[in-house]
Amino acid sequence: MPNTENLRGKTALVTGSTSGIGLAVARALAAEGANVMINGFGEADAIEKERAGLEKDFGVKALYSGADMTKPDEIAAMVAAAEAGLGAVDILVNNAGIQFVSPVEDFPPEKWDAIIAINLSAAFHAVRAAVPGMKARKWGRIINTASAHALIASPYKSAYVAAKHGIAGFTKTVALETAAHGITVNAICPGYVWTPLVEKQIPATMQARGLTREQVVNDVLLASQPTKQFVSVEEIGALAVYLSGEMARSITGTLISIDGGWTAA
Ligand code: NAD
Repeated sequence: MPNTENLRGKTALVTGSTSGIGLAVARALAAEGANVMINGFGEADAIEKERAGLEKDFGVKALYSGADMTKPDEIAAMVAAAEAGLGAVDILVNNAGIQFVSPVEDFPPEKWDAIIAINLSAAFHAVRAAVPGMKARKWGRIINTASAHALIASPYKSAYVAAKHGIAGFTKTVALETAAHGITVNAICPGYVWTPLVEKQIPATMQARGLTREQVVNDVLLASQPTKQFVSVEEIGALAVYLSGEMARSITGTLISIDGGWTAA
């Protein structure tokens, strides 16, 4: 059951929330009383179960949009549907993301385009659509799920690192533009979080580096994380809740690491 409910009456749109970090963020915001719209791909039955679960578990209104984050028109329609169905988009979490691992000379151009579209441009299209309503209500929270890769690079992830560094700059720019309107804009920069996105890149990393599965997990993924533990999705949800609250109103334009010390090195 909700405890403090400090977001009751607020509404949140979380992109890429049918799985992993986005789903945990949507559930964490709903646990604080926010009405939510979830988004992302997956099996219709599983998505409906998650949507209905949000309503049942937290007593909030929950909607689903199947908008494809590569399509600007669908993103604008998703924001409009959230405003129509929930009354507003007070909290926008740009979280949808994909990964592809390959040496740059073999990197398929269509994968580059998809990563830039979903991990970077989608945030622009959603922010562009949501900011007018936030300005009118003089309150807003924009949270971009960036990555440790917004701050540092790893080999074979050229498109992802470029997109996440782009999100870092976008976050700071929109923060400056909206600071006087009661809107904060921040990026959460996780290290390795155990989600399907990480699990799926293990085979490609095994191939690109000629390693076993255990070597990829221990020597590549957790090698860079001094805690030697994956970050949990619940930790990211808790940070998103904090950034959405009143006590975070002076935190804007920041890139907040939650990476077990990775980027301290
Ligand atoms: P995930 O694969 O579990 O979830 C990705 C979500 O995005 C899913 O809901 C999926 O359906 C959705 N999605 C993908 N393409 C889409 C599209 N075209 N349109 C709409 N939705 C789409 O991955 P995750 O690990 O939870 O990643 C979420 C975010 O966190 C991403 O931006 C990722 O870059 C970032 N991140 C993840 C990690 C990690 O270690 N898992 C670390 C740092 C940052």
